Parts: sequence; structure tokens; C-alpha cells
Amino acid sequence: MEYQSAIAFFYIDIRYQIKNNTLIITEDLFSEKDYYHYLETGAINSIAQMNDAYLYDQNKSHTENLSHAIEKIVNNRRLIYGIPLVSKFGKNLTENEWELIVKKFSVKTTTTFNSSFLDFLREKGLHPKPFDEEKGQWVANCPSGAKHPIMISAYFDEFGCGWCKKKGGKQELKDWIQEINLEK
Ligand SMILES: [Zn+2]
Repeated sequence: MEYQSAIAFFYIDIRYQIKNNTLIITEDLFSEKDYYHYLETGAINSIAQMNDAYLYDQNKSHTENLSHAIEKIVNNRRLIYGIPLVSKFGKNLTENEWELIVKKFSVKTTTTFNSSFLDFLREKGLHPKPFDEEKGQWVANCPSGAKHPIMISAYFDEFGCGWCKKKGGKQELKDWIQEINLEK
């Protein structure tokens, strides 16, 4: 299966192998040029390679095992890559199975919840978006202007940026934005 990330122009190739009771998933992240080169020649000249291992449950079907692993991978990466746009399906995971996975994520990211903290983020042009409605997690653009998200705890009116090492409530965010504007 191959997919193109929704945010950055990466191409990701996903392969798997089964060893004993372990499902090993290998992901290669390609630039567009290297990706087409890979399709033609099979040469893996990727930007990054990630390996993940999952328990292969013999009581479940092969497709269920694969779907479960793919769901986990997309969930771990969707903060950065967004929900991927699949460009090509392999023989193991069909378009229908993929749609079921995507549907689960859409449930998590459709919300009617609102608060003055979220309004404040909108006012500042940071475009808050729900990430996991059940947990009250949202994401927004980082006010630093860097291309990474900040995490929002919508129920507690808190934010945090692991990259910039900043966190706090509305006042801390206000102060931080002011600091950034002074530096400009
Ligand atoms: Zn940041």
C-alpha cells in the first residue's frame, strides 16, 4: 500500500512481513523523485525508514491484523502528516477497508464543542482543529510560525508545544504571542 501525506509532499511505502507471531511493518518515506525511481528500479533511497512490530493475532483474519496495524500507524503519524490520501492500494488492504479506518478518525475529529479559548485561537489565526473529541484534544498552528502543531486541551483551556517547550493557559499563550510579535 502506498500513500501520500496530506500536509507534506512525501510518498510513503508500507510493506510487511510476518515472523512467528509478529507483524513487522516497514515504512519508507520518499521524496517524489526518489519514489518514482523506487517504483522503476526498486532502489530504496528513502529519507527515513521506520519499523514497527505488532502482535499477529492468529484468531483474527489476515486483513483484520493488517487493518489494526495500519490504524495504529496512521493514528501515530496523523498529527504531523494528517490523514493520508491513499494513491494506490495493495492486494492486502482494499479501498473499503481503508474507508472504515478513515471513518473512525472522522468520528474523532468532528465536534460541536466550543469555548472562548478556542475562539481566542481562531482570533489569532491559529486555526484550531479537533484531534480527538473524546479526550478533548485539539491541535492548532504553532504561533511561532514554524510548521508544527501545538496541542490543545479544550476541556482545560491549556496549550503545549513540545518543539518550542512552551505550555500554559490563555494568559501564557497571550504573553507568548506578544513576545513573538515584539521579535518580528
Ligand atoms: Zn512550537
